[in-house]
Amino acid sequence: MVGTIYIPMATNRKVEILLTRKRDVERELKVIRDKCKHEIKVIRLIPKNLSPSQVDIRWVCEGCDTTLGYPTEMEVKNYISN
Ligand SMILES: [Zn+2]
Repeated sequence: MVGTIYIPMATNRKVEILLTRKRDVERELKVIRDKCKHEIKVIRLIPKNLSPSQVDIRWVCEGCDTTLGYPTEMEVKNYISN
């Protein structure tokens, strides 16, 4: 059991502001993505949510950055060799 970690009020406030901003950004992204037809897909390296130093390789929409699926082994090889 770890003792209570003291978080200064200013830090809490900052986190609150950042989370609010994040929600606003996510809402705005959703509106854009809902309208997008995902016509052009490209392979991208995407940082993993839980460990951002690692990446996943995915097909994403070039227009709105939505993850569209997993590339095949062949597609990954082509991507890496380019
Ligand atoms: Zn899209």
